[in-house]
Amino acid sequence: MKTFGVIALATLSVGALAETIHTKVAILGGGVAGISAALNFTLNGMNDFVMVEARDVVGGRAQTAKLGNTTIEIGCNWVQGTGTNPINQLRLKYDLKTAVTSSSDLAYIDEHGKKVNATDRMNEFNDIRGKMQDMGLKRLAANQVDLSSRAALAINGWIPKTPMDNAIESFGYDLETGETAEVGSLEFSSLNGEASYVTDFGPNSGENLMVIDQRGFKYIFEQEAARVFKKGDKRLMLNTKVKSIAYNNKGVTITTDKDTIIADYAITTFSLGVLQHRDVEWVPELPDWKVEGLYGFHMATYTKVFLEFPTKFWDDVEMTLYANPNRSGLYSAWQNMNAPGYFPNKKDNYIFMVTNFQDNAYHVESLTDSQVQAEAMEILKKMYGNDIPEPVGIVVPRWTQDPLFRGSYSNWPIGELDQHHENMVAPLNNRVFFAGEAMSKRYYGFLQGAWFTGASAASNINQCIKKRCPTATYYPKIFNAKAKGVQVKRNVV
Ligand SMILES: Cc1cc2nc3c(=O)[nH]c(=O)nc-3n(C[C@H](O)[C@H](O)[C@H](O)COP(=O)(O)OP(=O)(O)OC[C@H]3O[C@@H](n4cnc5c(N)ncnc54)[C@H](O)[C@@H]3O)c2cc1C
Repeated sequence: MKTFGVIALATLSVGALAETIHTKVAILGGGVAGISAALNFTLNGMNDFVMVEARDVVGGRAQTAKLGNTTIEIGCNWVQGTGTNPINQLRLKYDLKTAVTSSSDLAYIDEHGKKVNATDRMNEFNDIRGKMQDMGLKRLAANQVDLSSRAALAINGWIPKTPMDNAIESFGYDLETGETAEVGSLEFSSLNGEASYVTDFGPNSGENLMVIDQRGFKYIFEQEAARVFKKGDKRLMLNTKVKSIAYNNKGVTITTDKDTIIADYAITTFSLGVLQHRDVEWVPELPDWKVEGLYGFHMATYTKVFLEFPTKFWDDVEMTLYANPNRSGLYSAWQNMNAPGYFPNKKDNYIFMVTNFQDNAYHVESLTDSQVQAEAMEILKKMYGNDIPEPVGIVVPRWTQDPLFRGSYSNWPIGELDQHHENMVAPLNNRVFFAGEAMSKRYYGFLQGAWFTGASAASNINQCIKKRCPTATYYPKIFNAKAKGVQVKRNVV
């Protein structure tokens, strides 16, 4: 499979020989989608491929860090949907330790630092969210135009008026999509999220399981990758950054910071953020129909801040919502990482974690760790008084600032149409295929989205290899629906 037509490039230093590697398929990116594609080829007896990954490990956005002596998840954390969800199947296969989490085990602290009971208002929000979801599915079935989630929330009766309302909405909506209701699509978000996994993965599959396994969430993906690449397998090209992808109807040439790869086919699994930032050069440029779809979609940012304390001063519930009066959602949704069933209560290693989204996340990511700590402590003192201890550790992942990710996960915004998304996924010349979580219409944002799209790209290529390339759909131009308004002759109702 892999021949080394070795050419020494003049620009390289002595000893660093650039190789030209010939292969049938180049899988670009070693995250969950890349691993799933590699596994699919292997299980189908197709072993002529390489996988190119810029980092020194596989797993992509499944990443851990250490805080004190606890391994924490800085990227994906939940198995979202159980039953036949492939991520759940891997959880079972590798006996991954998880905690059942509940979104109703909550404490509320108002803008004056007073503990209050906002359960009724939270229940009201949850009811309205349910109605909004039904509305989205109905409108989709009737081919009605999309609405923003904000408009849909308002139509169904949710008009936030207090800082606590904002905290409830931020927890009940932004925490899932990574963005605010203003930008989110009603119809496509109704297809995604819980609506998808509750129905798709068999009976009672709507559970969210938080990974607390000290091997890390990444363990299950590393193990699946190890089924494909044995130690020293040269097909796994770690520490190798893709610089450009040249494609035509005969094949693909990939230039990396080390070698040139000449392949019959390629699968890109780079995040939507990476594709949008033009971190990889395309030759020729991506066609307009592809670019329109890619730029219309959103790469959301979800930034966790983990603080480690010598003692525990917060409530023994799973989540505490703070009604931040100054900025909606900022340092608002706090998760007790030592809640019953989570990490054990260990002396000197108590972890309180707060999640920020969109503009709040960009703000947090722009600060140094000590600035984040100072801001978070100011909030915590408003919540619990001045006598709380200083943190002994802090971890702030910065997904948007990382050029290999440029955000956390994708979100379907108002304005992106079904056809735009099909254009995002459509292959180029049946030679370059697109996989990764953002390419999944039903499970964008989720690990299962990455897993399914990787497998599907590999299976399409397998058919192409057998000269039975499946037909792909794309839309050279997308037009607005020309629905006429209902004409009301006399009174407008
Ligand atoms: C903070 C956070 C929380 C999340 N929470 C959850 C959750 O609870 N549940 C859930 O289901 N999902 C969650 N997700 C989403 C989930 O992690 C992703 O959907 C999934 O990991 C995406 O996998 P992927 O293979 O599509 O992309 P990636 O993991 O991004 O893989 C692409 C790979 O390409 C590599 N790469 C990029 N550029 C280059 C280049 N130029 N050359 C070579 N390699 C390159 C990257 O290093 C990366 O390894 C979360 C994500 C984040 C960040």
